[in-house]
Amino acid sequence: MDRVLHTTDYIALEDQYGAHNYHPLDVVIDHAEGVWVYDVEGKKYLDCLSGYSALSQGHCHPRIIKALMEQAQRVTLTSRAFRNNQLAQFAQELCELTGFERMLPMNSGAEAIETAVKAARKWGYTVKGIPVDQAEIITCSNNFHGRTTTIITFSTEPLYREGFGPFTPGFVTVPFGDIAALEAAITPNTAAFLVEPIQAEAGIIMPPDGYLKAAKELCEKHKVLFIADEIQTGLGRTGRLFAVDHENIVPDMLVLGKALSGGVYPVSAVVGNDEVLGETIFPPGSHGSTFGGNPLGSAVAREALKVLIEEELVENSAILGEYALERFRQIDSPYIKEVRGRGLLIGLELHEPARRFCEALRDERVLCKETHENTIRFAPPLIIDRDTIDWAIDKFEAVLTV
Ligand SMILES: *Cc1c(COP(=O)(O)O)cnc(C)c1O
Repeated sequence: MDRVLHTTDYIALEDQYGAHNYHPLDVVIDHAEGVWVYDVEGKKYLDCLSGYSALSQGHCHPRIIKALMEQAQRVTLTSRAFRNNQLAQFAQELCELTGFERMLPMNSGAEAIETAVKAARKWGYTVKGIPVDQAEIITCSNNFHGRTTTIITFSTEPLYREGFGPFTPGFVTVPFGDIAALEAAITPNTAAFLVEPIQAEAGIIMPPDGYLKAAKELCEKHKVLFIADEIQTGLGRTGRLFAVDHENIVPDMLVLGKALSGGVYPVSAVVGNDEVLGETIFPPGSHGSTFGGNPLGSAVAREALKVLIEEELVENSAILGEYALERFRQIDSPYIKEVRGRGLLIGLELHEPARRFCEALRDERVLCKETHENTIRFAPPLIIDRDTIDWAIDKFEAVLTV
């Protein structure tokens, strides 16, 4: 018979056999429901990270799990060598929701970013007329777009890059939020500007008001594609369906992942119009993924999107986000440097490393993770209610005022 394992056993096993590319909080989760997770000893915690915003619909949402189970018993993978009935409607529903003409499904966020990079380059050569292999893509300092070798090329975080070179040519970095720097960096060979509307991984960094709108105008003026990485900020996290909606701009490509499948199954996508995702850019055979657009992921994503809309999670994020931001700002703590955010994507920047506060919060049954040393991210599932927010913020207050 298997020996009963406890928290310390699981930690020891994972540390012994797993690569140490993460530094998790020492809580071993056994199961979860809605906004709550339960560890292997049965202790209950509020999840305030939501799988880096993938779990906007909450853990194990009954409707999404039902869609998963039903589809799993029908067909899980066709490959794109054949068609499947789920992808067709997923594509239609995602395009109708976002207002774009086409979508291209992948699995992880990084793969969707890679797809957008490829689309932008190809568009640069075929539509804009950039000389072959000369396309440039402008990215921002402190960005986070994923972990592939091409994507870490344009990371400005040494930890993400060091020892992983050589890197991919064709990327230029400008300071995030600096419109003059963006204008100065644009050349006739610039194919695209890739930006997160709010830099979540960098510590919930908000650009100056009007920055995204001005950047979009510059892109239009110079015939440069504006690509919004909304993998984390999208689908209601910031209180609007997309974070770019706060400045009423429509990007040329929108990159989605995370909450697109409610944290149930990896599904990502790029959406855009025919000019960037049509057959000139991606003719048959030019790009693909064995699992991308599979019927299981498509069925899950379709239901995850329906839940998001029908349960009015975008509205909930706006209302409770504003409420939570106000309450956090009222905490009188010598440790807090700044509270900022939009919707239910809130950062508490401290004067010192946040790790020990995250550990103290865990002891109070609130799970948070520091991002970039000094910032605690508050990003619970969007299904959360006001009473639970109040309960959580009381815990924050207790931990930050001792
Ligand atoms: C998480 C994230 C990614 C990468 O997604 P993966 O699924 O981890 O590859 C890219 N961009 C942003 C803004 C993210 O938050």
